[in-house]
Amino acid sequence: MAPTHVLRCCQRGLAWIPVIFIALVVCWSYYAYVVELCILTIHNTGEKFIYLVVFHLSFIMFVWSYWKTIFTRPANPSKEFCLPKSEKEQYEKEQRPETQQEILKRVATSLPLYTRTGAGAVRYCDRCQVIKPDRCHHCSACDMCVLKMDHHCPWVNNCVGFSNYKFFILFLTYSLVYCLFIAASVLQYFIKFWTSDLPESHAKFHVLFLFFVAAMFCISILSLFTYHLWLVGKNRSTIEAFRAPVFRNGPDKNGFSLGFSKNIAQVFGDQKKYWLLPVFTSQGDGLSFPTRLVTIDPEQPTECLQPGVLDKGAVEGPAEQTSPVSEPQNRLLANDYHSEDEHKETDVLKSDESEAVTISIESES
Ligand SMILES: [Zn+2]
Ligand SMILES: [Zn+2]
Repeated sequence: MAPTHVLRCCQRGLAWIPVIFIALVVCWSYYAYVVELCILTIHNTGEKFIYLVVFHLSFIMFVWSYWKTIFTRPANPSKEFCLPKSEKEQYEKEQRPETQQEILKRVATSLPLYTRTGAGAVRYCDRCQVIKPDRCHHCSACDMCVLKMDHHCPWVNNCVGFSNYKFFILFLTYSLVYCLFIAASVLQYFIKFWTSDLPESHAKFHVLFLFFVAAMFCISILSLFTYHLWLVGKNRSTIEAFRAPVFRNGPDKNGFSLGFSKNIAQVFGDQKKYWLLPVFTSQGDGLSFPTRLVTIDPEQPTECLQPGVLDKGAVEGPAEQTSPVSEPQNRLLANDYHSEDEHKETDVLKSDESEAVTISIESES
């Protein structure tokens, strides 16, 4: 076995440590709450019953959404985003970045792309050899391009992106509910043990720690949870919050925002009965997304613009200059890349390489 392969296997194994840590804490919390608190400490049958029912409901939802976040594979760009054989051979033979860009531009005309690199080039991943769809980024930890990549989360040892973003939000929601319920229901017994109203027993240790651990997780999850709710409301990924996506008119951090309710529906779907269940209901295919606005280019024929499903409230600026576009068809963009000088095109490729980012900004515990 090659040394690099062994190293890679070790890295993969070590990456599960945070997940195992969370799983052990959850198993202990189950034992401490059910056995030590409900069975051994609480004597009131009614109270015991209510606590056990609510606890198990929040526990099941938490474990279900956590499981789905961990084991849902990140979605990758489809075959249409790979270069056709002849273009690929041409691209690989070609040394000049500007000619390589010409090849990419030619292929991109048939793809639903609105975004470009900071310098206006077609976004291409050399590692995966694929044209990056809008909102797609290369994750160096997973070593693949991930659709609507949000960030790579070590606590789930998975990329959070188009395929599991809803599960991730629900995981945060239910972990908050789980910790809040434990902290709230344990509080009175925590005080009783502390003030010696209850006899000394080994349950004391578990109950005291249960409260501390639940309260600590609550505080750390709350900030992450509110941040992601804010992102959902704005239809922005964590990566896009740090660096606005670049459209043909330049960077626009609200480029994918369709108005609050439509932004929520993009992640959770339009059927409210499924919102709280960790089943996939996000809208779209992850390859193309409705954009808020595309400014009409006077030189472009108007039939390129299609009337959209856009929330009128989201439209800003003079109406005659802008038009809503809902179908991400990229004729406008694809034919519109005119490099002003060759240096600019060379820079483009460099800046695109820098897009291979892994954001590990988790702070759940
Ligand atoms: Zn890639
Ligand atoms: Zn990843």
